[in-house]
Amino acid sequence: CFEALHGALGDCSCNVDTIDYFNNVKIFPRIQSLVSKDYFRFYKVNLKKECPFWVDDSRCAMKYCHIKTCSKESVPGYENGYENHIDELPASKYTKEAQSNCNSDTDHDPDLGYLNMTISAASQYEIAKWKAHDDALENFCECDDRDAEAEYVDLSLNPERYTGYKGPSAHRIWRSIYQENCFRPKINPYESFPYVLSSDLSNMCLEKRVFYRAVSGMHSSINIHLCSKYLLSEKTAGFAAPPEGEWGPNLEEFQRRFDPSQTLGESPNWLKNLYFVYLLEMRALAKAGRYLEREEYYTGNPTEDEETREAIRNMLGIIYSFPDHFNESSMFNGGSQANKLKVEFREHFRNISRIMDCVGCDKCKLWGKLQTQGLGTALKILFSGKWDGPEDDPDQGRLPLRHKAHERLQRTEIVALFNAFARLSNSIRELENFRNMLSSHKETP
Ligand code: FAD
Repeated sequence: CFEALHGALGDCSCNVDTIDYFNNVKIFPRIQSLVSKDYFRFYKVNLKKECPFWVDDSRCAMKYCHIKTCSKESVPGYENGYENHIDELPASKYTKEAQSNCNSDTDHDPDLGYLNMTISAASQYEIAKWKAHDDALENFCECDDRDAEAEYVDLSLNPERYTGYKGPSAHRIWRSIYQENCFRPKINPYESFPYVLSSDLSNMCLEKRVFYRAVSGMHSSINIHLCSKYLLSEKTAGFAAPPEGEWGPNLEEFQRRFDPSQTLGESPNWLKNLYFVYLLEMRALAKAGRYLEREEYYTGNPTEDEETREAIRNMLGIIYSFPDHFNESSMFNGGSQANKLKVEFREHFRNISRIMDCVGCDKCKLWGKLQTQGLGTALKILFSGKWDGPEDDPDQGRLPLRHKAHERLQRTEIVALFNAFARLSNSIRELENFRNMLSSHKETP
């Protein structure tokens, strides 16, 4: 697959080799260090939402699917306005011990802060309609961090890696994403793999192609991660202790998945789609860059928060310097038809975010939801029109005069956006590792 992974990417003026160098040398070390900071480590998510499309067929039974959640108190800065970025947390309250207490939620006291929530059924119906309307206006994802069942997860304790999730449940997710939500004419639902052929793409308009390529790039990234952090062996740790896994790259697994002769020649395109979605998310970061530079990144630890802001400014500076950004201005031009297409585009993506609630492995669901929300946030930045002002776009060379109130991103959106981009960056870096492993493999007689 590496032989075909060179040159132009298509649908943009960039090529694979430029991105390889730029990512591996400049972005990768910076973004990995950035997402290890407290602000980006804790992600609030509802993993208990019902699948809205079919009866859940696979309660997670695999031990490597398990997620460790965090009590609210263990999230740095939570008590003093974490959610609203308002107050400062006294430095003494900020302890590393508190952070490692990440297992169960113990803060529930039903009597404290009692509010009378009685609303007539009719008003509830109206309010639900308003909310659905407002959300639909701009969001590309179903946000669930305000749900009562949403919990904090420390991403560093739950790394994305091989879990053993596969078979009909995983295939149903990918199939419904590609066949029903990627603007593809619906055909035989039992149709064999691959779900989409690149020959289909040449008949699609740019917008629909971009949609498919972004989703396929995310799929590649997920599968590269499970190959690069594969379960290599299991050791018994002692009587009654759970066995410990040893995780690392599995070249054979990577080759099996991305061998062109096994995928009707499609796998090099899937890898190119990874570079494509990387460019798309990087452009969103650049476009919202002036806004992101002004965020507080509040956790309550002034030293760490300043370091985070500095790291953000540094990384965005590198991103601005990239010469071949994805150009979203060529999309959705053409009056009412284009607007209709944009609404469809957003609806399809929201549907994909709902499908993530049907993933039958909690760890896969966590990272699937995070990466979908990150991509959805990038699409919102690129296509909602709210970040289109020249004063906010570094490409236009002017600094903003003031904060526009309506363009604010939620904390979870920012956390998801940077972590999703970090996943893509890591995948591109892992490709380099697999390329090196392959060439040393060939050289060894
Ligand atoms: P799949 O990856 O299931 O793909 C199904 C078919 O889609 C393939 O046969 C091929 O025709 C086509 N296809 C494959 N790649 C692409 C692409 N990039 N673009 C377009 N078409 C493609 N497993 C883990 O071990 N760890 C995880 O963290 C994890 N996270 C997941 C998250 C989500 C949201 C989902 C749905 C699955 C996740 N999985 C995870 C499972 C994993 O993605 C695979 O589904 C599983 O390993 C089975 O792989 P497969 O070879 O059958 O092909």
